[in-house]
Formats: sequence, structure tokens, C-alpha cells
Amino acid sequence: MNKKYDAIIIGAGVIGCPIAYELAKMGYKTLNVDKNSDAGLGSTAATCAIIRAHYSTEDGVAMAYEGMKYWKDWENYLGGVKDEKGLAKFMNTGSILLKSKGHDWRKVKKNYDAVGVQYEDWSVERVVKAAPVYDLHEHWPVRRPEDSEFWNESTGMLEGALYCPEGGYVNDPVLSTHNMMRATQAHGGEFLFNVEVVAVRSEANQVKGITLKDGSQFDAPVVVNVAGPHSFKINQMAKGVWEGCNIKTKALRHEVMHCPSPEGYNYYGDGYHTSDADLGIYYRPEVGNMFLIGSEDPKCDPKVYPDPDDFYAGKGGAGEDNQLSEAQWKAQCYRLGRRVPTLRVPNQPRGVVDLYDCSDDWIPIYDKSDMKGFYMAIGTSGNQYKNAPVVGAMMAELIDACQKGLDHDANPFQYKLKYLPRSFNVGFFSRKREINTNSSFSVNG
Ligand SMILES: Cc1cc2nc3c(=O)[nH]c(=O)nc-3n(C[C@H](O)[C@H](O)[C@H](O)COP(=O)(O)OP(=O)(O)OC[C@H]3O[C@@H](n4cnc5c(N)ncnc54)[C@H](O)[C@@H]3O)c2cc1C
Repeated sequence: MNKKYDAIIIGAGVIGCPIAYELAKMGYKTLNVDKNSDAGLGSTAATCAIIRAHYSTEDGVAMAYEGMKYWKDWENYLGGVKDEKGLAKFMNTGSILLKSKGHDWRKVKKNYDAVGVQYEDWSVERVVKAAPVYDLHEHWPVRRPEDSEFWNESTGMLEGALYCPEGGYVNDPVLSTHNMMRATQAHGGEFLFNVEVVAVRSEANQVKGITLKDGSQFDAPVVVNVAGPHSFKINQMAKGVWEGCNIKTKALRHEVMHCPSPEGYNYYGDGYHTSDADLGIYYRPEVGNMFLIGSEDPKCDPKVYPDPDDFYAGKGGAGEDNQLSEAQWKAQCYRLGRRVPTLRVPNQPRGVVDLYDCSDDWIPIYDKSDMKGFYMAIGTSGNQYKNAPVVGAMMAELIDACQKGLDHDANPFQYKLKYLPRSFNVGFFSRKREINTNSSFSVNG
């Protein structure tokens, strides 16, 4: 006889664990299954874990600001559970959004006002007072170092910044995921590692369970796809689910670079997370007094969508494998060098490369599916680490409501946020939506 659960969650990353945690707290008997050997070792392991509130839509801002509150209250969120590895820590650096032509910061400001986000409007002088190594000359449009105009002398200046004092990053994203696994286990949730889901079984359009590569089967009336960059593969395993999504997901290769702070500047201790769309990058402090430099995927950079199985197996052609590429490393470091002219760019690439689970409009899909009992929390598009605890609570309530008969497609579930005094139309994340043209179509969501 197959072992039975109330809910099976495919994936034990930073999104799969909080969903299990919240379902377990509601009394569901949960099982997370994962190909990796522990929680958080998928794309979560490579995340920059930046916790910022700026997004292009009001709902995006509300969710991120709500997420920030959870990270600041981490111990409480975990219900006092102990983890033998310790607890992850929120590093409250503050978050600078540089005002530039590359970012519709006026829309962000409007969204901040609507949601009630705490922020300050900073002049150029105020930014430089806070971050004395920054040079706020304008470099728009974003170019690659191979472009001869990349090194042009800048004549204009940026306008300043929006500063959000509550922003920052989480020091150890794998540990944060492990913390949520331990919290789930404290409520009876189970985890199975080193196993691969190869089939999603159903009968008369009702999900029945999963089959693993070794042939073993587990049954549940609820199965949730939280497989990160493999999400489209799992959706394709469930009959009719992939076809029923108007918005699709695919894996996008993404590189993050490390570069030492300028001599005499303590970026690790004194620096801010900064979004710099003028140069198509974002950066935050990293252990070892490093700048960690991510990309906002400007139009001039190539986009590579590898097969996630090939990528994680280390296969693939030029630019498709899981090694840093010299050209992209230079692009991101040299771009930061324009903002921080005293930056010391080393002669060896250092950083990480991993995959975003990217949706067509860079907004996630948090939804049911066309198959009864099959749900998805996918398409996190390089920007949902910060929202993970909110997603956990929202998905668990959505699943519970649908299992009790709600027709979420016809009558979208309204999720009441725990910290902010507002509710959220979960239909915003529908798989059936048209592409959201308010999106920045970038990691800024
Ligand atoms: C380089 C990078 C930087 C980022 N920076 C930020 C940031 O600064 N701020 C922010 O908010 N977000 C950021 N993100 C986004 C955020 O980290 C992701 O949205 C989040 O980690 C995704 O978590 P997940 O649980 O959905 O996926 P994953 O962590 O990938 O977990 C999915 C799990 O599913 C398992 N799985 C897949 N297929 C199967 C199968 N067939 N059988 C069994 N198991 C399976 C995998 O092994 C994996 O462990 C970044 C992402 C990347 C890649």
C-alpha cells in the first residue's frame, strides 16, 4: 500500500518549506520531497537573499513589505523552534534605490505611499554622505564593456535616491530554509531527500499522488509544485496542467559576482544594499568585505535558458554550463566600477551562477491548477526569496480554501496579510492572467 499524506510538496527550497510549515500548523500531514540531500540546496542556495520593498506594482510592494516584517521577527515566526545549526539572521543594512532612467522610481514612490512603506527621499549629497565611495554620475543607457561608449565620460548626474531603512538581506539563505524545515517537523511534517519525482498521478482529473524514480509511490489529495527552475517539468508531468497555464515558466541562467571593497572602506560593516538600474546592477555587502553584484538583466546582456537538468549536471555549451563566464563577470564588475571608481576588480572571476525560475512577466504564479488538488508556487523570477514566509501562509490558506470548495478561478481568494492592514487578491498571481504590463519584466518584478 502506498503511504498516504494530506499534502505532498515537491521541493524543499525556501518556497516549499514555508508552505509545508503553514499546512502542518493547520493540521495537514505533509511530506516534502526533494532531489537534493537537504533543505535549501536548490536555487535557494545561490540567492542574494536581498530583502527590499521596491516593486513595480502596489501588490508587489505590499507583499515584499509584509515579507520584511517576517524576517525581522524570525524567531517568533518559527514559533520558538530550535535548530541545531542556529538561526539565520536578518542584516538590516537599509536599502537604496537610485533614481535613474532605468527604474520607474516614481511608480515605486507612489506604491510606497499607498502601502505605507517607511522611506526617505535622498538628494545626491545625502547618498554620498551615506556611501562615500559612490560617484553618482549618470551612465544611462546600460552598455556592455565591449561597447566603446561604455567608457565615455559622463556629463549628467542622477537625481538622488529613495532610501528604505528597513531593507537588508539574510545572512544565510540555506540556513533560513533549514530553520523552516525544523519548524515544519516540529508540527509533524516529514521530509524525504535524495528522491526524484518522475510522475504525478491522477484519476478523473483529481490528483492522486507522486511516483519517484525508484518506483515508490506516495498518495495525497493535494500535491504542490514548488520545484523552482524545474517547475515547468513538474507541470508537464501533471495531465493538462501545463496546457492550462496562460503564463509559462522557464529556467534563466543568472550570474552573481563578488568583488573586494575599495581599500579603506568597510562596505561589509557600513554599506547599503543598492539597486542601480542606471548600470543594470544591484549590490549588497558580503562576508570578506566584498561587494556582491547581481544583474538586473539589461536588454544588452544575452539571456540563456538552459535545460535545468543539464545545468545542474554541469553539462551544456558555451555560457550554458554552471561556471561563471569571463564576459559577464567583467560586465557586472566594470559596471560597479563606474559607480565606485576606487573599486578593485580582481583578475579572477569569483561568485555564483544559478537559475531563476522565470515567468513570462517576471511575476510568480501562486495558484491552483486545472487539475483538482494540484497547486503551484512557481515562476519566482529571481525576486521571491524575501516573500517566502508570506507565500507559505498565503498558499496554505489558498489550498485549504480550495479543498473546502472555493472556486478560486471564478471567485479569487482574498488573503489577509498578518502584519499590514490590508488584504490581497490572490488572483493577481493567477496562471490564467494576461501578461501584467505593469511589470518591470526584470528581477524588480
Ligand atoms: C542567483 C539568484 C539570486 C537571487 N537573489 C534574490 C534576492 O536577492 N532576493 C530575492 O527576494 N530573491 C532572490 N532570488 C530568488 C529566490 O532566491 C528564489 O525565488 C527562491 O530561492 C526559489 O525558491 P524555490 O523553493 O522556489 O526553488 P528552489 O530553491 O530551486 O527549490 C526547488 C527544489 O525542488 C527540487 N526539485 C526540482 N525538481 C524535482 C523533482 N523532479 N523531484 C524532486 N525534487 C525536485 C530541487 O531539488 C530544489 O531543491 C535569487 C535567485 C537566484 C537564482
